[in-house]
Amino acid sequence: MDSYDKRPPKEIWEIALGELQVQVSKANFRTWFSKTIGLSYQDNQFIIGVPNTFAAEYLEKNQRSLIEKALAGLTAPDVQVVFQVNGKSHRQTATTEDVKPIPSTPPSFTRLNPDYVFDSFIEGGGNKLARAVAQSVAQNPGHSYNPLFIYGGVGLGKTHLLHAIGQAATASSINVICISAEQFTNEFVTALRDKNTEDFRNKYRSIGMLLIDDIQFIGGKEQTEESFFHTFNELHNTNRQIVMTSDCPPKAIQLIEERLRSRFEWGLVVDIKPPDYKTRLAILESKARQRGISVPADVLEIIAREDQSNIRILEGSLNRVCAFAKLLKAEPTPEIASRALADIASKEYVPDDITPSAIINAVAKSFQMPNDALLGRKRDKDTALARRMAIYLIRRETNYSLSQIGEALGKRDASYVTNACRKISGDIDSSPFLKRKVRDIQRKLQH
Ligand code: ADP
Ligand code: MG
Repeated sequence: MDSYDKRPPKEIWEIALGELQVQVSKANFRTWFSKTIGLSYQDNQFIIGVPNTFAAEYLEKNQRSLIEKALAGLTAPDVQVVFQVNGKSHRQTATTEDVKPIPSTPPSFTRLNPDYVFDSFIEGGGNKLARAVAQSVAQNPGHSYNPLFIYGGVGLGKTHLLHAIGQAATASSINVICISAEQFTNEFVTALRDKNTEDFRNKYRSIGMLLIDDIQFIGGKEQTEESFFHTFNELHNTNRQIVMTSDCPPKAIQLIEERLRSRFEWGLVVDIKPPDYKTRLAILESKARQRGISVPADVLEIIAREDQSNIRILEGSLNRVCAFAKLLKAEPTPEIASRALADIASKEYVPDDITPSAIINAVAKSFQMPNDALLGRKRDKDTALARRMAIYLIRRETNYSLSQIGEALGKRDASYVTNACRKISGDIDSSPFLKRKVRDIQRKLQH
């Protein structure tokens, strides 16, 4: 077998992702793997950057051996993986020579990914407007559309556009901060804890442009929203550009503060829609060129024909086809591509059979109460216990994210879910009765 260990870790991980994509469900892949990056490979340790502690925890607990297996063929048979929360997985490609362990405290802002520039952003029907507006904002910051709010599904290029704006602005000597809402929240919470909010305030108020990725994460965090609200006003009043991305339009973000939502809509709201076949093909061509790999047009066409709107996964397919060809020591051909992708097609669409509603049903039945009780606001002891039990089981049995679980249980927020899980895990540990109940419900769910 070919040895890949001279490759940069980023590439090794991309190839491994191509493999993993076939082995886990689509939902699982999207939730836990899509924002990961290969950071370094040294002394048999492969460090994977993950966007947050939940992902680190989940992958560590549930996917470590699968990941190590996927990496073993590309690195060493006894490779060990380490998950590292690095805020954002956009670190510049590290090579095996210049790998340095990254500091354990994440940087308070995102380094702009040098690959994410306007030139490499392929235009298509679904993103034409967003791209044009982003360019206009980069050329004329603070004066064309302020704020600019870009929303769209996963893997459609929101972060790419945001970094492209940042790069263009930096080139014209504007002091840019690009940060995910999650990082912003962490930084704010740390500042609160360390009684440093004055510095925090000053830092954000002295910048020339603020780019916030995945702003939907700010929803429901009262103090952070408040702080962001003031930062926003101050920047906006002085014509400094603000750009935000989100996976949904402003009206669908669950915010505590209505005044914040109305500000999101002040400037311009644009969406990015999934790419059509022609755009997918053009993107694949550009990615192959960028990486300096030559893939025949008919092979790219086969990959582009997959009905895949998430461009990150499309890139995964390209990696997979190339990895397959490499393993066979052959050039990629349409046959190899079809074989490499057939696996994905057959395994990827296996429905996740245990759904939150099935779990809510089973728990409600077991506690002899109506489903609605779990979704409602009642807080008596039994209802609260049943609700926590449902949360605990959904967390264990499905790939739903914390906020999705909160949503499924009567629009509660992620921190509610975390607390519920923490509390019930302790209760279950100390109560044989609850242990039995959990097992009974789990057994019912299997049938
Ligand atoms: P999002 O933030 O919307 O989830 P990203 O910006 O992270 O998506 O994009 C996912 C991947 O797809 C990135 O590698 C990005 O470069 C690529 N990509 C998305 N849209 C385009 C495009 N129009 N042209 C080229 N690459 C794209
Ligand atoms: Mg993104």
